[in-house]
Amino acid sequence: MWPTGVPRERACVECRKTFSALVQRQRFCSGTCRARAKRRRDRPENGLRTGVIYFLQQGEDGPVKIGFSRDSNIKTRIRNLQCGNPTKLFLRGTIMGIERDEQALHRKYQAYRMQGEWFNTTAVLRELDS
Ligand SMILES: [Zn+2]
Repeated sequence: MWPTGVPRERACVECRKTFSALVQRQRFCSGTCRARAKRRRDRPENGLRTGVIYFLQQGEDGPVKIGFSRDSNIKTRIRNLQCGNPTKLFLRGTIMGIERDEQALHRKYQAYRMQGEWFNTTAVLRELDS
């Protein structure tokens, strides 16, 4: 627990310089560093690395998460997701693709979106079967 109002020394995520952070979520020493990190994140090629788009269902008839992982071994990802989920997760399918393909699927199923990356199953799994 971080006591309120007490600054803490931490390293800037962007320039590694030490600064005294006032709030726990503060990761950059300055607005300049925050902007620089954002520019790098937003570079178009960041969305072009091939990875795996996975369809993970919560329980036998729960919603499906359409997610993307740069690592083709998604066992760790599933384990982490399972850790925060009391219902058993089932991997229903994977396709190779880039992050933009995943985002395109999110847009495609927008009408079936429940929360975040979770979608109504019937519509999405029909797509996988075809
Ligand atoms: Zn910095």
